[in-house]
Amino acid sequence: MRHFGLEAAFAGALALSLATVAYAALPNVAKPAITPTVAEAPVEDSAPPAPPPAFDCGNPVPGEKINSPFGLRRLPWEDHGRLHEGVDIAGPTGTRVVAVSDGIVKRAGESPSYGRYVEVEHGVGLTSFYAHLGKIERGMKRGAYVEAGKTVGRMGSSGTSTGPHVHFEIRQDGKPLNPLVFLNREFATKEDLPIKLGAHVSPRVRLATVSEIPESKKALMEAKAGKGKTSRKGKRVRETLTFAANS
Ligand SMILES: [Zn+2]
Repeated sequence: MRHFGLEAAFAGALALSLATVAYAALPNVAKPAITPTVAEAPVEDSAPPAPPPAFDCGNPVPGEKINSPFGLRRLPWEDHGRLHEGVDIAGPTGTRVVAVSDGIVKRAGESPSYGRYVEVEHGVGLTSFYAHLGKIERGMKRGAYVEAGKTVGRMGSSGTSTGPHVHFEIRQDGKPLNPLVFLNREFATKEDLPIKLGAHVSPRVRLATVSEIPESKKALMEAKAGKGKTSRKGKRVRETLTFAANS
């Protein structure tokens, strides 16, 4: 009986395996029910996903560069510099101008200076403003929801403008801020918004040169230019004004 222990173990193992087979042969109903639930998906036991950023700012004209910055600027027909309250982005007429972030249309319309414009409210106290549009996109009416990257209008030269471009502003409670500190950046909370930096205006006045004098400013230009520089027939000072600054 030396092998009794071994035999017993063997018999036990055999019994266990028979039991397993018997169990497996039982009809399905006897098996523990498996209810597919969402719990079957891999469960991450890490922290919940981060909330969306308070302000996620894109670019109003993806792919085009700013050709006139925010700050004090003197246009050729002006005597003094004044604040250029946004940035100008030039491009071909008809280029899509898009909402920089999700928001609600605050107003859309036309003014003598800004031409056709759309203003979008983004919560966190900020609005974005798109002006000199050739065309306002259909549906851009007060109260309409607009998603980031959706077209608000097409680039044009409406209002007081020196060529096809969009004049783009970011405002906080109506006060213009430098859009450069917001574009292509995201801010997790309202407290992260660079309001102070955006409100800073350099004392330097840049003299802008323009490629085309707006019709409404031609008389002013003639008065400023005095004799000789402009012709009464309408051929203008183009040779002295080289590149687009817009307004
Ligand atoms: Zn401008």
